Parts: sequence; C-alpha cells; structure tokens
Amino acid sequence: MLINSVRHCPLCDARTSGVTFPYITKFNAVQFEYHKCVACSSVFVNPVPDSQTFAKMYAKAVYHDFNYEAPAGWSYADSANLLKNYLPTAAKVMDYGCGVGAFLKALAQEGFKPYGVEFDEDAARFAGQNANCETFSVDHFLALTDKPEFDAIHLGDVLEHLPDPASTLKNLLCYLKPGGVLFVEGPLEINPSPVYWAARTFGAFKRILRPGLVGSDAPTHLFRTGAKQQLAFFLLTEPRLELISWAVYETGWPYTEGGTVKRAIAGIALLIGGKHLFGTTFGNRFRGVFRYQHALPALGVTESGIVPEGCK
Ligand SMILES: [Zn+2]
Repeated sequence: MLINSVRHCPLCDARTSGVTFPYITKFNAVQFEYHKCVACSSVFVNPVPDSQTFAKMYAKAVYHDFNYEAPAGWSYADSANLLKNYLPTAAKVMDYGCGVGAFLKALAQEGFKPYGVEFDEDAARFAGQNANCETFSVDHFLALTDKPEFDAIHLGDVLEHLPDPASTLKNLLCYLKPGGVLFVEGPLEINPSPVYWAARTFGAFKRILRPGLVGSDAPTHLFRTGAKQQLAFFLLTEPRLELISWAVYETGWPYTEGGTVKRAIAGIALLIGGKHLFGTTFGNRFRGVFRYQHALPALGVTESGIVPEGCK
C-alpha cells in the first residue's frame, strides 16, 4: 500500500511511518494494516472499515453477545460508583456505546438516571429492556430533533472503535449541560506494560518466521495508544475540558488467562501497573474524568446559557 494513500492518525492527524505490530489482518474479504503514527507513535488501522464491515463486526449476535462482561480487572459497579464523587443523586447519565446495558444497570443501582446509545439497533433495544431505561441506536439518537441534555456522558471502551474520535467527541459534548462531566475509560494498548512488550516481541518473531502471515481478527480497535497520547487527545480536541481525575492501571489481560509463562508476565505487569517509573506510568487501561466548561469569556453568554461553538 502506498504511504500517501494511508489515512492520517485519528488522534493527532500526523502521517504514518509504516506498518507495525499487529501488522495485517483480513476480515470480510478486506485487508487491514496497522500503521504507526510518525508524530505520536499511536497505531491505527487503515483503511477504515466500510459500513457493511462495521455492521458485520457489531451485529448483536456476533459482538455484544460475546462482549457483555467488563474487561478483566475492573467492574461496571466500580465505574458507576466513581461517578458519585462528581454527580448528585438522580443525575442523568448517558452511556454512549452502552452495549447490552451492563453499565446502564450499574448506574441505576447507584441512583442515577441511565440513558443508553448503541451502534447496533438490536443491541440498543435489548439494552433498554435489560436496564429498563431509554435507549437509542446511534443513527436514531443523532436524528432526535429535541436534543436531550445530560449531567454526565460515559464512554467505556468506545473511542478506539470510532473512525473519527475527535469529531464524535466534539459532537457528544453538545449534549452535556454546562459544567457537566465527561467520564472516559478504555484500553492503552501501546502503553508501557510487560504484557504489551511480550505480545509485541512474540508477534515480531512470528512475523520473521512467517513473513506473509495475515491475521483474521476483526479490526474492531481502530487505534491503539498510550496514556500520554490519549490524554493529549482529549485536551487538544476540546480545550474547554478541564481534567479532574486521570488514572492509569493494569489488568494483565489477556495474559491472566494464558499458560504459566504468560501468567508470570501478567503477574509482573500487575505488580508495576499504575506505578510511575522512569518518567512513565505503567498500565494497560486509563480512566479519565473531565468537567466541560462551556463558559469561556471569548465565546459570549446567551440568555438561555452558553452554547458551545459547533453545537446547534
Ligand atoms: Zn498520532
């Protein structure tokens, strides 16, 4: 593939420096390459899967029915509980990318008013019944003429699935009340971690032994990044986001479920996860809480409040 025809980094908009781990995968008869960003070193999938491939990747029966549990090492209840530090009881919280509704249920249990949005129509309907709350498919939600407003928006393991995370984030912030809370959590797949180093080393050996090897995993994660790059993405995408809390931690996944060697590597990773050593924080996941201050003096105030630029 010609480097000029490769899309730019979805986090910082710089160009590719070439193909990197995990290299190449073929799904739905299309070959996808993993490219490394020349500026921020994040890894991103090229090309972006087309709408038919997206539908195939996220149909409830093939995706959500197998991805309904929280990734190992954290729980929906912990995340919902964390929000209590920043929100009053009965606050209205949207879970964007709510899957089959596990986090929506956890929100209700903590006394919040949950509201779910999910890409797949069947999954959205199921989530609504599962958590007994209002849910919409992404298309339906974006087409609502009477735009709902929320005290908080949660994105759990969602950003890395988006072709253009910056524009989706900006658009979603339009649904937050002034001073509302953005709560984002997800994987850090190239952040310093013994599990990541081991996986990359094994992958490189495999590629030397079988140079033409093409994987068959669905390219669901459209980018892989580290803590520094992920935090920079939020603050550069929307300067009105004020960081309240930022945590990096380790789950050891997927090596916690491997053989003796992999479990030993996961053990070391868990030991140093979250620690700040040699100028970096080790870990494979992040959790960030931001407050969205609409009110910037330069933007002017209307009688009904402050409408951020780009929101109608
Ligand atoms: Zn980049």
